[in-house]
Amino acid sequence: MIKTYKTTLSSKEQLNFDIYLFTFTLKDPSILEFVAGQYLILFVPDPSGTHLRRLYSIASSPLKKDNFELLVQIVPQGKGSEYLQSLKVGDEAMFQGPAGMFTMRKNEKDIIFLATGTGIAPIKSILESSPNMKSHLFWGLKTYKDIYYLEEFKKIAEENKNFDFHICLSRETDFSGIPEEVRKFFTLGRITQSFEEKYLNSENDFYLCGGKEVVESLKEYLLGKGTVKENIFFEKFT
Ligand SMILES: Cc1cc2nc3c(=O)[nH]c(=O)nc-3n(C[C@H](O)[C@H](O)[C@H](O)COP(=O)(O)OP(=O)(O)OC[C@H]3O[C@@H](n4cnc5c(N)ncnc54)[C@H](O)[C@@H]3O)c2cc1C
Repeated sequence: MIKTYKTTLSSKEQLNFDIYLFTFTLKDPSILEFVAGQYLILFVPDPSGTHLRRLYSIASSPLKKDNFELLVQIVPQGKGSEYLQSLKVGDEAMFQGPAGMFTMRKNEKDIIFLATGTGIAPIKSILESSPNMKSHLFWGLKTYKDIYYLEEFKKIAEENKNFDFHICLSRETDFSGIPEEVRKFFTLGRITQSFEEKYLNSENDFYLCGGKEVVESLKEYLLGKGTVKENIFFEKFT
């Protein structure tokens, strides 16, 4: 059921040059129940006295109920971005939710997650709340300096032997800048190049998340390869 939540910002961590992790603690009501993959609507105060709304996927596990995390790309001059950036630890923020259908269907198939940028947020929540799920993640970022969440995904993969992940760096041309001990987690080029040979199989379920254009082009790509639309689930960050 959609509710309104009063929260306080309990931490704000910069993960790379434009990506921040915000943790909000619930005040009223004191817990948030949601299904992994859902989002919340942030009320962004407007000078006119009303508020704008911006949607953010919940990046943390639903097993944690008294706080939640948002993974946010700060967009220059963005209304939601500027408001979030202006918040200090202890400040109040209002949300509505939870909402959204980017949640796991029950099935016996392998799951393929394809994400770009902060589209990883709902997928991280799903993975952290599904300990034995058989799945493969392909996550597109531009360069090695964009990396965050490496330790988090290593931990998930250590705890769940049915999970593997591949960070696909579209703008790196070689592995020289990547420490040898973590190179096995990286591929060069676009997501599609990385997963096509091993994992393209119309029996799999595909979950896509990221910017609108990327999700639409990944969906077209999968349909073009013979994946049926019933096996493709997606969330577009517009
Ligand atoms: C279901 C859903 C879930 C979402 N979850 C997340 C999430 O977990 N994390 C997250 O970071 N975002 C997420 N988004 C996107 C988010 O809702 C905002 O659209 C985004 O943060 C930009 O809002 P803003 O108010 O800062 O910018 P706006 O004020 O809306 O836009 C300001 C300017 O920036 C441009 N702009 C907007 N987005 C981008 C961009 N990504 N890159 C470059 N220019 C841009 C706009 O075209 C405009 O010119 C989600 C969107 C949807 C629909």
